[in-house]
Amino acid sequence: MQALHPWTLLLISAVTLGQIQEQKNQECSKLNTQMPEFQKKTVHIKDPKRVEEIICGLIKGGAVKLQVITDFDMTLSRFSNNGKRCPTCHNIIDNCKLITEECRQKLYQLKETYYPIEIDPNLTIEEKYPYMVEWYTKSHTLLVEQRLQKDKFAEIVRESDVILKEGYEIFFDKLNEHNIPVFIFSAGIGDILEEVVRQSSVYHSNVKVVSNFMDFDDNGVLKGFKGELIHVYNKHDGALKSTEYFNQLKDNSNIILLGDSLGDLTMADGVANVENILKVGYLNDKVDELLEKYMDNYDIVLVKDETLDVVNSILQKIM
Ligand code: C5P
Ligand code: MG
Repeated sequence: MQALHPWTLLLISAVTLGQIQEQKNQECSKLNTQMPEFQKKTVHIKDPKRVEEIICGLIKGGAVKLQVITDFDMTLSRFSNNGKRCPTCHNIIDNCKLITEECRQKLYQLKETYYPIEIDPNLTIEEKYPYMVEWYTKSHTLLVEQRLQKDKFAEIVRESDVILKEGYEIFFDKLNEHNIPVFIFSAGIGDILEEVVRQSSVYHSNVKVVSNFMDFDDNGVLKGFKGELIHVYNKHDGALKSTEYFNQLKDNSNIILLGDSLGDLTMADGVANVENILKVGYLNDKVDELLEKYMDNYDIVLVKDETLDVVNSILQKIM
């Protein structure tokens, strides 16, 4: 076969690129009709035009410019399944056979006291903040007293009711296939979280987890937690603490942020170069009281939605 002249190659590339751009422009112009997932009853959007503009920006940027910053508990994992509440990373331990009945009751009592504060629509984040520190400090102290063994974690995760959102395989596999970095920023327990993602067979090399990791002694017995505490309402300095990670992603200026708490809205704060950011929020609890606030702050609100359908449909358009 005769080799093509470099100018011919350049011309072909330019035409192809032009065609791709044109195709992307067309896709942008009728997003709503092309994405049936947006017609679902669970989807609430305050400003559809703005959302369309952001999604257009994401589509035009393509996979190379994209990164995902996501919460874990009740965002990637389900809030409920068949009408039954699903556990957070902490709850996997609260419910497990490794801890004493007395400790379990204390942990449940703490949850009864502090979870209503976490989701209280009438308190500000500043008002909630010290209570969250109190909750984590007390519950983590109880866990350390139980001398939990790391080598039992795989078993307790396997025996738990934790389940990732419907469509998680497509979500993780597609992001991995296109080398899109996924930053899981969780106020849960890192060791449990990693086990859940691993057992779901989606802990690919593009996934980075920042969370509360346990510290074990030489015998694998829990002796404390590493680093500074991450709780639901101090997620604003994640990017500042993970500078090395985000420095490598300077060109990934398009972000999809996924969360379920109003505290998750600040997860991308401190990311240096942001062109487009789409904030998608799952609203699972106290829906009537919180919907307006969520719609004011998240671009897309998904009410009692146990799937990743909407996000997957956006990813499909981008790639
Ligand atoms: O991954 P994410 O940041 O959502 O993890 C935090 C979640 O852990 C919160 O939703 C909070 O309710 C829960 N939590 C818990 N038990 C604790 C502390 C936090 O279930 N002791
Ligand atoms: Mg969460």
